[in-house]
Amino acid sequence: MQQLDHQFIDGRWVPSQGRRRLAVTNPYTEETIAEVTAGDAADVEAAVAAARHALPGWRALSGADRAIYLNGFAAALSERRKELMRLSSTNNGKALAEAGIDLDDAIACYRYYAEQARALDERQGQRVEHDMTGVEARRYFDSAGVAGLITPWNFPLVTSAWKLAPALAAGCTVVLKPSEVTPLPEQALADIASDIALPDGVLNLLHGDGEGIGAAMTAHSGIDKFSFTGSNAVGENVMRAASQGSRNVSLELGGKSPILVMEDSDPQRAADWIMAGIYFNMGQVCSATSRLLVHRAIADDVYDALATRIDAINLGDPLAETTDMGPLTSSRQRDTVKGYLEIARQEGLTAVRDDRHRQLPKQGYFLAPTLFRDVPTSSRLWREEVFGPVLCARSVNDEAEAIALANDSDFGLAATVVSGDNERAKRIGRQLQAGSIWFNGEQVVLPQTSWGGFKRSGIGRELGPWGLDAYLEVKHLIGPQ
Ligand code: NAD
Repeated sequence: MQQLDHQFIDGRWVPSQGRRRLAVTNPYTEETIAEVTAGDAADVEAAVAAARHALPGWRALSGADRAIYLNGFAAALSERRKELMRLSSTNNGKALAEAGIDLDDAIACYRYYAEQARALDERQGQRVEHDMTGVEARRYFDSAGVAGLITPWNFPLVTSAWKLAPALAAGCTVVLKPSEVTPLPEQALADIASDIALPDGVLNLLHGDGEGIGAAMTAHSGIDKFSFTGSNAVGENVMRAASQGSRNVSLELGGKSPILVMEDSDPQRAADWIMAGIYFNMGQVCSATSRLLVHRAIADDVYDALATRIDAINLGDPLAETTDMGPLTSSRQRDTVKGYLEIARQEGLTAVRDDRHRQLPKQGYFLAPTLFRDVPTSSRLWREEVFGPVLCARSVNDEAEAIALANDSDFGLAATVVSGDNERAKRIGRQLQAGSIWFNGEQVVLPQTSWGGFKRSGIGRELGPWGLDAYLEVKHLIGPQ
């Protein structure tokens, strides 16, 4: 069994200062595959000191020089693609093909921010247009300092790429804390940093949980900027802690995203996109379209098409090529989702498909892909993030009702619109309060577009130029011409 009893600090693996042991589980075999020695405040102290020490040198490099390292991360991830796919599937439970999509997203992200780092050199010192005579103003960008990055367990290599790549591009040095549930894939990032000779202290990686490392990071005044992806409850804690010293925070939090299916849609194609929107990664996706708003005229056809597809899902070993869906990532998450299914029973929701319709594998944290229809908007399952393979659906009478119900949520991360008419789909999409709105397709993620949400889905945006800006300070030099 692998022992994660070292922390990556100042370019070296050093023994963790903590004592508590945390088990890392394979959610398919339910076996302990590694043990983390959870770090504590002493590890955070050492990592922050290393990051602060490395900061002047790293921020002084040109963007083009930093781009070389970012391309190094991309190349190393490509080289280790197969091995890291297996590791992600083994630690997280996702089907191997889905792990491949994660790797490709992460690689594209490092490449994109290599380009952005180079482009940053050209943005430095640009003249600002204004109408005051005799005055010159020029714009510069500087690193936001030491960045504390905290990631969740659902897409370890993707969520870390979306933070680490822009932070490094911007000239920040980093303390990264992976989720204690899935520390194995991100562990590779520290080894890659050594392999590509990233200067010591630029990336520090700490293993541990929220209590041991997370809280000590947010309490540490040596971290200038936090970027957190995870639950709303913890995100609010991070924000509260960062308010000490008025430090900058970006938050990527939960979602309860809608998929709107209009009466002019092809029910079969709509069903394909609905399936991909909710059952990818066992539904443990912040942008999962977990609320289906389907026009009454085609609702029965869509439910039939969904039932056929759900019955065809092959649940099983994530490493087997025939598997469509693996187990949930932890027994804890499985139990959380089960709790919602119990609420559904108490509320008397109508299941088109649930665990009564299929035999689950004997081992592993599996749950049946579930579809409830005619779900009242007052139901907790309609309003709260379940974070599992559970789709709630209801019929609507027209487009206006679909838009109003789509926007009637505390969250606003993502949405999908399905219509036989692309122009209509785009017109509807523009009326939705969400950061990413797809139409007539699956959830394509491009590093060039923003990621992040309205309302309780978070603060700020990742990806695109906005993802870089989150780690930059802008400044202007103003004086006589
Ligand atoms: P979580 O909030 O439990 O944990 C996230 C991270 O925070 C982990 O690394 C954890 O160890 C750490 N943490 C826990 N307590 C902490 C504390 N007090 N201080 C600092 N750090 C602490 O979330 P999770 O269960 O790992 O992930 C699921 C959640 O993440 C869902 O709500 C999901 O919607 C959200 N998510 C959002 C996005 C997005 O882009 N908006 C992407 C992925 C996941």
